[in-house]
Amino acid sequence: MSPWYPRWHLGTTCLLVETNQGLTLVDTGLGLHDYENPSPMVRFFHADFGIQHDPELTAVRQIVRLGYCPEDVSDIILTHLHFDHAGGLPDFPHARVHVHKREYEALLHPRRWIELAYDRNDFRHCPDWILYEKATENWLGWDAIRLPFTQEIYLIPLFGHTRGHCGVAMKDGDGWIFQCADALTTNAEFDILPFWLSRIIIGPHLPRLRTWSDVHPEVRLLAGHMWQTYFDGEKG
Ligand SMILES: [Zn+2]
Repeated sequence: MSPWYPRWHLGTTCLLVETNQGLTLVDTGLGLHDYENPSPMVRFFHADFGIQHDPELTAVRQIVRLGYCPEDVSDIILTHLHFDHAGGLPDFPHARVHVHKREYEALLHPRRWIELAYDRNDFRHCPDWILYEKATENWLGWDAIRLPFTQEIYLIPLFGHTRGHCGVAMKDGDGWIFQCADALTTNAEFDILPFWLSRIIIGPHLPRLRTWSDVHPEVRLLAGHMWQTYFDGEKG
């Protein structure tokens, strides 16, 4: 439990999608190295966010439990490169990694305080980067970048939390999933933080996401961090 806020008992949202290329992972969460040899940043994160010290929670272990090999994950889409979203990259060294070019440049040349939460250990294996820049499409009113999969998956620039932070929108049956990652407060609950504070931490998109989601009930909004109870519910 957090010494600051006892409700904080969080997990990072990672989505596993079957595409025409193979398995695609949207954000990796923490990786095995974060459990085996945690950096001071990861130790703080564990303590403050109430993360369990259990490597079985990593994406790679969960994917193996589903009956796949790590090599079956051919592609990873990252909303941004913070350690709690990209920590599992070394567990999938063969995967192509799709990310916005601005985010990659922020990793190379961090400027703002929040861009210090990149962990070099996540990228030592020299990932096969695929970088995107121009948002030439429109997805339900948002500037969008179509990713190279048969099914519709879009990178949606939501800059602010980090310089190149993006959401990921994907078709899901008759509706859509919009993983807004750290542009959205925990559990996609809009009133957790005062707006001035959320603007500093997660960027300026909250008001627009709120009014937009009211008129798009076919879209399921997800945040980068959800309460533990959300994941328990998904399992059940
Ligand atoms: Zn982040």
